[in-house]
Amino acid sequence: MPAITVPDLTVLPRVPLPDPERSTERPVRGVTSAPSGYEGEGFPVRRAFAGVDLADLDPFIHMDQMGEVEYAPGEPKGTPWHPHRGFETVTYLLDGIFDHHDSHGGGGTISDGDTQWMTAGSGLLHIEAPPESLVVSGGLFHGVQLWVNLPRASKWATPRYQDLRGSQVALLTSDDGASLVRVIAGEVAGHAGPGSTHTPITMVHASVAPGARLELPWRPDFNALVYVLAGNGSVGSDRRPVRKGQLAVLGAGGHLRVDAATSQPQAEPELEVLVLGGLPIREPVAWAGPFVMNTRAEVMQAFEDFQAGRLGTIPSVHGAPTTLTEG
Ligand code: MN
Repeated sequence: MPAITVPDLTVLPRVPLPDPERSTERPVRGVTSAPSGYEGEGFPVRRAFAGVDLADLDPFIHMDQMGEVEYAPGEPKGTPWHPHRGFETVTYLLDGIFDHHDSHGGGGTISDGDTQWMTAGSGLLHIEAPPESLVVSGGLFHGVQLWVNLPRASKWATPRYQDLRGSQVALLTSDDGASLVRVIAGEVAGHAGPGSTHTPITMVHASVAPGARLELPWRPDFNALVYVLAGNGSVGSDRRPVRKGQLAVLGAGGHLRVDAATSQPQAEPELEVLVLGGLPIREPVAWAGPFVMNTRAEVMQAFEDFQAGRLGTIPSVHGAPTTLTEG
């Protein structure tokens, strides 16, 4: 699992240990296990947020861990063209290559440690697929797609595409120098990541060495979610055991703690966690398929607009498929 790695963590800025006299460590409110499924043309995913109340996820909506999968030659899969409106898709790639095109002119290729942050806003069509070279060769594919809700006032924003390179990510280490903290958006201990967000959000990918402890200051007005991409360990003030494919929803507090077990699976030498938090939007969520709006009528309108071609048309992209589906 490369994403972005650093040969010598001790040269990085350190996240100071929170002062237990002045900050409460967040407890775990619940742990869920992500069921497996298939997305798009049939790539394997774990539905990271399945079974969790939207109010606990707010401002996040949905997340898929894509892979990890070792494709045979000819096997790599993506999605056909499909629409979105009312939220953002954030695709973070740990291994492999993914191409993106959208009907608003956004797009690019991401690989190890890169992120594409697409604001669907008022609506667009997009396609996400492995490049032809990867289809031919096969290979490792592992990433995450997170859906971030937009508040009512931003649901009609002009679509935007942010191409965040792995090299732009803010890299920090824990107080003991044993963990790598990658800040993709928001900030940790004053170090900001490159992602620009519509509402305050922090998105972190951390690798915690076996037996090590990671403590992160976390805005008390944010929610806090810890998803385990690989390895095992424990989370929260109650040291709740977690393993690959599990999500911990944390309760209130000013910092959070993640401990890596001393023994890790051979193929996954470190505990890999995605730590997410944001200021809850606290608006009604009407979500159907690829549309996330405030009311049922707005969702129906989105389907009508899509059918009428008002969310855009498939642009001419050399070699790209032209099939269009609702998601
Ligand atoms: Mn999509």
